Amino acid sequence: MTSLRRRGASVYPATRSAGTARPRPAMTHRLVVCSLVALLLAASAPAVEVATPQGRAEVAHRGDLIDVVALVSLTGAEVRFSRAAGSYTASLGEHEVQFTPGGTLAVADGRLEQLPGPVRAADSRLLAAVETCAVLVSLLGWSLEGDTSGLTLGPAGAGERLVVSTVRAAEGTLVVLRGTTQKPQVSSRAAEVVLRFPRPVQLAEPITAQGELLGGSLEGNALTLTLAPGIEVAATYPLSDPPRFVLRLAGAQPLAGVETGRSGPLVVLDPGHGGDDRGAIGPHGELEKDLTLQIARLTAARLQAAGVTARLTRDGDEAVALTDRTALANRLRADVFVSIHANASLARGAHGAETYFMSAEATDSHAAQAAATENASAPQDTVQLILWDLAQTANLNESALLARVVQERLNALQEIRDRGVKQAPFVVLTGATMPAVLVEVGFLSNPDEAARLTARPGGEALAAAMVEALTAYLARPAELTATP
Ligand SMILES: [Zn+2]
Repeated sequence: MTSLRRRGASVYPATRSAGTARPRPAMTHRLVVCSLVALLLAASAPAVEVATPQGRAEVAHRGDLIDVVALVSLTGAEVRFSRAAGSYTASLGEHEVQFTPGGTLAVADGRLEQLPGPVRAADSRLLAAVETCAVLVSLLGWSLEGDTSGLTLGPAGAGERLVVSTVRAAEGTLVVLRGTTQKPQVSSRAAEVVLRFPRPVQLAEPITAQGELLGGSLEGNALTLTLAPGIEVAATYPLSDPPRFVLRLAGAQPLAGVETGRSGPLVVLDPGHGGDDRGAIGPHGELEKDLTLQIARLTAARLQAAGVTARLTRDGDEAVALTDRTALANRLRADVFVSIHANASLARGAHGAETYFMSAEATDSHAAQAAATENASAPQDTVQLILWDLAQTANLNESALLARVVQERLNALQEIRDRGVKQAPFVVLTGATMPAVLVEVGFLSNPDEAARLTARPGGEALAAAMVEALTAYLARPAELTATP
């Protein structure tokens, strides 16, 4: 989450929304001046009328952008600015939503949410498009409709607001209904699937044709989905955190898999960074992108010798998009995906390996920092974190097991106390449809560790430990297999 807290805003120094500020007597005449200026500004700034349950209100706008803090405050939410974090937090009842000027991600009740567009600081205001404001208030349990010619704001209507979308996974297309904790009754009739919800639901947006899902409509509590001819529902299951209901379609075209011609297991190794993205830099100019490639090559050679097919996401100094890295593993139907990285820390003494698996939430601030650093090369607005995290959710137990096995071997090799397996929202892991981990093999910022890791014997020892872990994981007895 650290990435959400970087850019500080110098606007809106007030720590509360205007409606809750109370003047102090000693400041009276400054306040009068301020009020006059505010009045003049208010008079000159165009305003959009907002219908609320409490009556009509006005919120400043500039073109298509409206004043976010003023609008969000109309829900009754308290909006605070944290100078240290550089972010705003809106609190309403049990909901808490954090957003940052310039950012397109929000943290809602501890989870990352993608915003349709950025929240911008301009003219001493925070401005955002109506659709972005609509998502922000929806995260507080309210709904916003209309445009800058007139808006309607109210508590979200009775029922959960569903967002229906599709995800292509290795086993076929998944139709994902986000925003529901309910388990609907599912019945099929020809190419139509009807989901009857026990409690009211509404569609947050119309269902658009996506792949094998041709469309859908809601009547009362019954949602009807239209599927392409020959497609049917093979399985349904609910997921939590965030709440979703998933339908797995069968008869769907499988992903165009690359024929691997293999009989045994396949591991995809992902050397972190590459090209202009150099990653961390050691005290003697050691580059993370070179170290990760070296260790990936050594590990791949040892895996092949052990009868495990190994493929690299890059085998040269080239830039590869984070999403393309897991896409390769998905196409190859790899059994395991391992992204290899090296840490950097301001604490020069920091040392030892760390193994991560995917989570929308970081286990601690160090994990959050590590994820923010590794995610830096991902363009934020293309990060479909929440949607894609579905692919890893199905493999979470296996990923946790894999992470533990890897971390144990690396601890034994490095003779360190367990730094522990951690979870953090690493973009590179989100799209993997198989058990996936990210290994920070050590701290490049530590001179001793940088020298040891980049030297051939150190790299070989590390590769050997990785191969021990991966072969042990792949050959694990059935009782170790975690059930999803
Ligand atoms: Zn890295």
